Amino acid sequence: MKSYSFCPICAQRLERAMIEGRERMFCPSCSWVHYINPLPVAVAYTVNASDELLVIRRSHEPAFNEWALPGGFLEAGEEPHEGCLRELMEETSLEGKVDRLIGVYHRDVELYGSLLVVAYRVVVVHDAITINHELFDAGFYPRHLMPEIRIPLHTQIIADANKTQSPAFQQAAS
Ligand SMILES: [Zn+2]
Repeated sequence: MKSYSFCPICAQRLERAMIEGRERMFCPSCSWVHYINPLPVAVAYTVNASDELLVIRRSHEPAFNEWALPGGFLEAGEEPHEGCLRELMEETSLEGKVDRLIGVYHRDVELYGSLLVVAYRVVVVHDAITINHELFDAGFYPRHLMPEIRIPLHTQIIADANKTQSPAFQQAAS
């Protein structure tokens, strides 16, 4: 992830300083500070009426060609659960209903930096899929026939979705 070298307000070269307990870039001219906040992402753990899980094969980075759960970046002004359903609709044309929150996670991804990931359990009534350009493939699978998912966060979300209770807060990064 690239960071600013020049102030986006006044174009002065930024300098490095300890601000509020962290090393940050700031502008010596106008005092603008480059606070780096995570980007919010919604992920849809999506099941059909037969309790089969929707998995998709990604056609773009990160995790190019990997099997995954559908999802994407939230947009400004959007409720997280609505963004989750919008992403599902865009990628697969599936119309879902949010059933419950599975968990909220943090991950660092090389391409985007820090991500805040909100995962919902989504249920669909009709499961006819039309994929868009972001996917190579998508389908509903019973657990024992599901393609292998190798993205650690997504395997974590699947595990948490199958717990009867909400996941405990994790102390260690995984
Ligand atoms: Zn400035």
